[in-house]
Amino acid sequence: MERVFNFSAGPACLPLEVLEQVQSELVNYGNAKMSVMEMSHRSKNYQAIIDNAENTLRKIMLIPDNYKVLFLQGGASTQFAMLPFNLMTKHKKVHFVNTGAWSKKAIAEAKKHGEANVVASSEDKTFTYIPELDSSMFTPDADYVHITSNNTIYGTKFNKLPDVNGLPLISDMSSYILSEVIDVNDYAVIYAGAQKNIGPAGVTIVIIREDLIGNAVDNCPTMLNYKTHADKDSMFNTPPTFSIYVAGKVFEWIDKNGGVAAMQKVNEQKAGLLYDFLDNSSLFSGTVAKADRSMMNVPFITGDADMDAEFIKYAADRGLVTLKGHRSVGGMRASIYNAMPLEGVQKLVEVMKAFEMEKK
Ligand code: PMP
Repeated sequence: MERVFNFSAGPACLPLEVLEQVQSELVNYGNAKMSVMEMSHRSKNYQAIIDNAENTLRKIMLIPDNYKVLFLQGGASTQFAMLPFNLMTKHKKVHFVNTGAWSKKAIAEAKKHGEANVVASSEDKTFTYIPELDSSMFTPDADYVHITSNNTIYGTKFNKLPDVNGLPLISDMSSYILSEVIDVNDYAVIYAGAQKNIGPAGVTIVIIREDLIGNAVDNCPTMLNYKTHADKDSMFNTPPTFSIYVAGKVFEWIDKNGGVAAMQKVNEQKAGLLYDFLDNSSLFSGTVAKADRSMMNVPFITGDADMDAEFIKYAADRGLVTLKGHRSVGGMRASIYNAMPLEGVQKLVEVMKAFEMEKK
């Protein structure tokens, strides 16, 4: 069966092996004689599925015991709102680093609860870099610091963890989680929508230090209170059962293939290949400050919008799809998450070279 190389930013490609496993189990999971989609979330079969997903994630990310793993709904966008309800409770102030459209959405939600203090921003250059940060920016009169580890639209990444003066550090890792080894202890809360590096859309992973649970404001809606979900092990209401099941398969796939460290190695190879080509091309160029380049989302341009459109079609005709840049920035963007094989990036570089030759 022919499949394209899909460079979508999300929902994004999944490991073929996982899709095939899901296919083989689709109508009869184990010996349940029903699909996971049809299974009660309160059944023994399903409990084993969600437990396995959590335990495998804990294993591959080395999540310490004093962190809860929650499987929630509403996407990363709901976390923008949930965080202030739960954690912006003492000083009613949060320090933000504004590195793009998603940071801005998180800032807008925090503003509803108090002061959203933007300590630094890269908006002056269309978010093509990560601002220099200094620990003195993170004054102790704030409840937490919020960053977006990887900026999906612009293709930047925090390559250095900011020194936040001991404040709780919260990160939106939607397009970063599982792409490279991190120390969970550096963070108070990590959250990520699944549809990039985890699995199908519908589930949002929240990894939260236990001491931060149970402090929500009194008028916090029940469903937006971390305690609601932590107390019931993500079973307060019906969780997105099928998405969690597939996410669990992806975690197992990562584990079987050498864990996050092995993913990181291949990701470095893939991104290196593409950036090297961009740095030496006479037609294409990258758009981001070199030190702040993302390994997951690689934006590039020819400098001519018509030529960009022509290349996107040229690539699609050769089985390389969803290369159009985000509507707010234009150009091209190759999202090369864990499930994008090295061959996909090799083929992309080949096709870019061929296009460049034709245009000479
Ligand atoms: N944060 C980042 C970094 C993202 O890339 C996205 C989605 N592209 C979001 C948040 C929003 O996620 P969701 O659609 O899951 O709400």
